[in-house]
Amino acid sequence: MDLNLISKLIVVLVILICVTFVASKPQEFYKFRLPNIEITSLRYLEEKQSTDLLSAIDAKADIKRVFPDGTFPYTYHFFVLRYNGSIIIFSTLSSPSEIKKLLKKVNVEPIAVDRILLTHIHKDQIGGLCENGKPVFENATIYISEQEARWADGEFNNMIAPTDDNLESQKQAQEIFKIYGARIKRMPNSGEPIFDNVYPMPSYGHTPGHTVYRFELEDKTIVFTGDTFFASEQLQNPGIYLAKGDNADFDPKMAYNSRQDLIDYLASDNIIFFSRRFTFPGIGTFDQRHNFKTWNR
Ligand SMILES: [Zn+2]
Repeated sequence: MDLNLISKLIVVLVILICVTFVASKPQEFYKFRLPNIEITSLRYLEEKQSTDLLSAIDAKADIKRVFPDGTFPYTYHFFVLRYNGSIIIFSTLSSPSEIKKLLKKVNVEPIAVDRILLTHIHKDQIGGLCENGKPVFENATIYISEQEARWADGEFNNMIAPTDDNLESQKQAQEIFKIYGARIKRMPNSGEPIFDNVYPMPSYGHTPGHTVYRFELEDKTIVFTGDTFFASEQLQNPGIYLAKGDNADFDPKMAYNSRQDLIDYLASDNIIFFSRRFTFPGIGTFDQRHNFKTWNR
């Protein structure tokens, strides 16, 4: 074989290897667009966890049938919104370094974030807000439900004995409230929008004041479901819940009722909903027969 042919073959081989590598690499971002809003879903964590962490609130909820291999998907997609000219996020992960690294992937500096819509105060939501006693997000307004803020202040600790994880979250939240001062907006449960047709909706139970967010766009309503669900399987089996670990439901019965209410609402009007816990990109809708469909990419 002459040398020229060999070098041509090598080039073809290298191209083939590159194409195969790119094709097999999971997609890292997904951009969803409607008028006035662009939502980037970023793939952050994809794991499996043991069903030993789960429990069932009613006899119909059969964990073994729903997760026959003894594991359930444990994912974390991160949503970055550009809405009416502002940048919005819903959580700040567990630490400043993690959130900074992730935002860099979408070319967003923490200083550019305008609003943080907290759903609740678990550590994986608020851990990246402060660094060495200073705010990481120097221009952001932080939204939290009045009910959740009161829990952070220790008000409902006689309801259910708080776990060590809960106590740690509460302590961390109190520090954050001090550091951010007037930029923490405590939202009353009034049904009023907090800005530009964005409505907080109580979905209590995962934590005492857990809140989801509804955006009423021009001809579509979209909802960010926070930690109301730990996996899409709960849409058909809301009686199964996360009972152990630092993301367990605080009040399983209350969380179950909230899940049922939210499912009924989401199914009622062909709403598009976003969950960090569902199959990437974490976007779903119900079809006319109320079957759940992940977003068709
Ligand atoms: Zn949580």
